Amino acid sequence: MNHKLNVTVLTPEFYSYGALLISGLIQRYGYNVKLQKGFDQKIEADIVFISLQSTIHLLNYQEELENIDGFKIVGGPVTLSPELVLECLPVDLVVVGEGENTIYNIIEFFENNPNPSGPDFKHLPGVAFKDKDKTIVTGKGSLASLDKHLSMVPENISSENIRGANVYLETHRGCPGNCGFCGVPCFFGRKVRSRPLEDILKEVKHFLRNGAQRIAISGGTGSLYGSNKFKNVDDDAFVELLREISNLTGPKNLTIPDIRADLISDDIFEAINKYTNGWVFFGIESGSDRVLKHMKKGINVDQILEAVHMARKHNIKTAGSFIVAYPGEEEEDFQDTIDLADELMLDDYFISIAEPIPGTDLGDEILNLSFEDNILFQKSQKYLKHDLSIAEERALDLMMESYIFRSYPVPMTQTLLKNLIDEVKSQGKHIKRVTELIKTPIKK
Ligand code: SF4
Repeated sequence: MNHKLNVTVLTPEFYSYGALLISGLIQRYGYNVKLQKGFDQKIEADIVFISLQSTIHLLNYQEELENIDGFKIVGGPVTLSPELVLECLPVDLVVVGEGENTIYNIIEFFENNPNPSGPDFKHLPGVAFKDKDKTIVTGKGSLASLDKHLSMVPENISSENIRGANVYLETHRGCPGNCGFCGVPCFFGRKVRSRPLEDILKEVKHFLRNGAQRIAISGGTGSLYGSNKFKNVDDDAFVELLREISNLTGPKNLTIPDIRADLISDDIFEAINKYTNGWVFFGIESGSDRVLKHMKKGINVDQILEAVHMARKHNIKTAGSFIVAYPGEEEEDFQDTIDLADELMLDDYFISIAEPIPGTDLGDEILNLSFEDNILFQKSQKYLKHDLSIAEERALDLMMESYIFRSYPVPMTQTLLKNLIDEVKSQGKHIKRVTELIKTPIKK
């Protein structure tokens, strides 16, 4: 069937896998679809589907979206709080949860009902819209089948650089973990759904044929691919996944995502060493068992130490993420984090201030925490000259420490120090804006 509707899928900053996937899907349904990154080109489409990943997008793109014509629909992880999306952005409809099933219904409805407004979609599950001043949410979209996905690959994919990769490819969805700061289980559910290996390989070939070289695999925590029970990792499925993708990309062009420190084995590390660029990334978050428990991270410091030790035994480079200023983190908890970071001597560190994602436990905690009690809004007495908050001070201290105590120490020059101060200030500014946003009452 030849459809006349023109659809543009817009991704503001980089080619997210979600945007490529939805574009491929709409194309498969027989519609004219254009995939666009950024706002530079004028959009002329009947329907504009905007894929947003981060809460800060709600604040950063208000003006740009105002200037776009067409029926505007927002989808992506940011829709964990559809009320917030509709409060912030001038859009017609929000796809709530996974979009694959809902998007087809929306387009089909649109085709049969020209010039609809949000409320016309009231019988469609999985959407939210404004009806006068009220926000109506018709429920969460049903979980999608992960069979036979084939993304649309943009022409300039070879120049895309998402943390070193041209593309992040989805291997599975969902995570049985329960980390309070993370939107993955809230958005994709807690059951792991894995794509068939043959579909993944077909898509890898499709990306390579169209110019991509460096591929990272994404999807909750890597080693959960193929497993159907938490703590019961299917080593064989994960090893086979790495081996088969690596046969196509070459090991140096394959990056794996984060691995939980309690979902590892010698076989997994051996495969990472053999079939990937040789890095592993652990979500470490804190050196305080008390804070890890409060985060519901489900691992403790001993497990982290063991995981890093095991990875080293297999000659794998180690990187880790840390979160500072989580609600309830006391000075002594932070000192434990510094001590752990020093002891681990990782090859790379990623340090962030706790960012509340609406719809997560952390989002709720920050919502209920007054500005006065939130250390992101308390002035640091240590770095008065730089006008930092206590949260920014902790991020800066940990960043400085991480350069000194990494596997290859990096001298702390004035330039590096300035860059780190700029980095913590930028993080602090961003998270303050998000915090203020989620604490502003919204009309329901
Ligand atoms: S294990 Fe990773 S993906 Fe799962 S909830 Fe925790 S941070 Fe999120």
